[in-house]
Amino acid sequence: MLDREFFLGFIKIHILYHASKEPIFGAEMTKELSRHGYNISPGTLYPTLHRLEKEGYLKNSSRVVDGRVRKYYQATAEGKQVLEQSRKRIRELVTEVIEEE
Ligand SMILES: [Zn+2]
Repeated sequence: MLDREFFLGFIKIHILYHASKEPIFGAEMTKELSRHGYNISPGTLYPTLHRLEKEGYLKNSSRVVDGRVRKYYQATAEGKQVLEQSRKRIRELVTEVIEEE
């Protein structure tokens, strides 16, 4: 589905943005994305997190929370760089698609 492909790009930017602010974990990110109107299943979110990690944009660290191991993800320097580049493109996109509508 084409719209899924578009949204996945937005979702990745959301993830990078939040992971650049503070370490995030899956369930928290699912909640945050649904607040933005993206209903993303764990079957989509986790592979996306893993892909971003494999590509070097996120790094994970495990923490024990309430006796369970929880994986936190944080943006790497490379991830922050991609986010910065995305920011410029988003600004340009907003100018054209939203403001010049
Ligand atoms: Zn958000």
